[in-house]
Amino acid sequence: MEVKQFFGGIHIPHYKSFTEHKEIKKASLPEEIIIPLLQHTGAPNEPLVKVGDKVKAGQKIGATDKFVSAPVHASLSGTVTAIEPRPFVTGQMIDSIVIAVDKEQDELKLADNDLEKVTKEDIINAVKEAGIVGMGGAAFPTAVKLSPPPDKKVDTLIVNGCECEPYLTCDHRIMLEKAKELLQGVKLLMKMLGVEQAFICIEDNKDDAIEAVRQENDDPGIVLLRMPTKYPQGSEKHLVKAALDREIPSGGLPFDVGCIIQNVGTCVAIYEAVKFNKPLIERVVAVTGQNIKDPQNLLVKIGTPLRHLIEECGGIVAEPAKVVVGGPMTGRAQENLDVPVVKGTTGVVVLPPDMALEDMEYSDCVRCCKCVEHCPMLLYPNQISIYCEAGMIEEAEFWNTMDCIECGICAYVCPSKRPITQLVQRTKPLIIQMRNKR
Ligand code: SF4
Ligand code: SF4
Repeated sequence: MEVKQFFGGIHIPHYKSFTEHKEIKKASLPEEIIIPLLQHTGAPNEPLVKVGDKVKAGQKIGATDKFVSAPVHASLSGTVTAIEPRPFVTGQMIDSIVIAVDKEQDELKLADNDLEKVTKEDIINAVKEAGIVGMGGAAFPTAVKLSPPPDKKVDTLIVNGCECEPYLTCDHRIMLEKAKELLQGVKLLMKMLGVEQAFICIEDNKDDAIEAVRQENDDPGIVLLRMPTKYPQGSEKHLVKAALDREIPSGGLPFDVGCIIQNVGTCVAIYEAVKFNKPLIERVVAVTGQNIKDPQNLLVKIGTPLRHLIEECGGIVAEPAKVVVGGPMTGRAQENLDVPVVKGTTGVVVLPPDMALEDMEYSDCVRCCKCVEHCPMLLYPNQISIYCEAGMIEEAEFWNTMDCIECGICAYVCPSKRPITQLVQRTKPLIIQMRNKR
């Protein structure tokens, strides 16, 4: 099936060879885990435990009754040593439950539910209870995403296996090593949403993954789409356009055009939650980059400090180095390696400092318009950056800052290294505040 191309975007070096051929390996257990009570988009959880409590792996330790939220679980058994603000990947301090990990760990007790018999309600309840969030990095609560308003008719599920960000390989490895579980997750989602068609979208630089999923697929309603490799092919707006030739309107969401999008890792987590009642307590993380000794795809317990993963991969081989959580285009540079892996952590990329976009020295706009040529949302990033930098919120809104998908292309191509994405991230909440006051 032919897929639609989009305007703008860029072909960038993938740098995936560090880990794309490496099998997922279980990371060793850290001595301490840090479980932030807010690691999703939405309301923070309240702790369900207190300092001194013994907790079991898989035990729910934080929850709230707010709709847009996802509970958190202990990823390992141990003793709660603190409930206090700890550094988070965004640079903020977030209330977290700190657990001293037991040296001996019991096997997680898993159910074995009959997937033929599960109902739509069973599926959504399992997703909610497991605390599943979008694992492609967005960390939006999945149960909320799967509950569109009643007036929105959803006819298609789109599964995002593009993983277009450089360096990252966790989704690629999941498709290769867990194709069966992925397809089970897709079928459960189709049943829950009541849709008869699903597209699994994979970029054409991962033909081995396309083949692995094709071999396991026995459902004619599930179609594999081979997408051109171009950044940011995995963005929701561009996936919907490519797969269905539908345009998500400005300020809209995929369900406005009849679809729901889920990342491949999220589909596997959904399968595990429904089949085994398994909470989201671990995920695959690509620990990679030029400056790490032994890059790996690791299966990591949520809450493991970055420092532990870097040591596990042989340590940093050349200083200075910049540690970025996520990919170099959309990720965040980290000062503090005690920051934990959370549900949305796709990768830990250790780079020479001149290869990370964040925190570079920058200068004034020279009006070259390269950013305009490449912006996949057809925006004027040059104008946006000037108004965001000057704190001119109304003007930033006028230039459609809210439509920016924060792909980082403008900063990547900008000869002045202007931190346009960071300026946008800082300005969006101010635009929302301004709109709420109107
Ligand atoms: S970060 Fe925003 S403004 Fe910049 S290229 Fe991407 S969508 Fe356009
Ligand atoms: S690429 Fe940079 S210097 Fe060129 S117009 Fe855009 S913001 Fe200005």
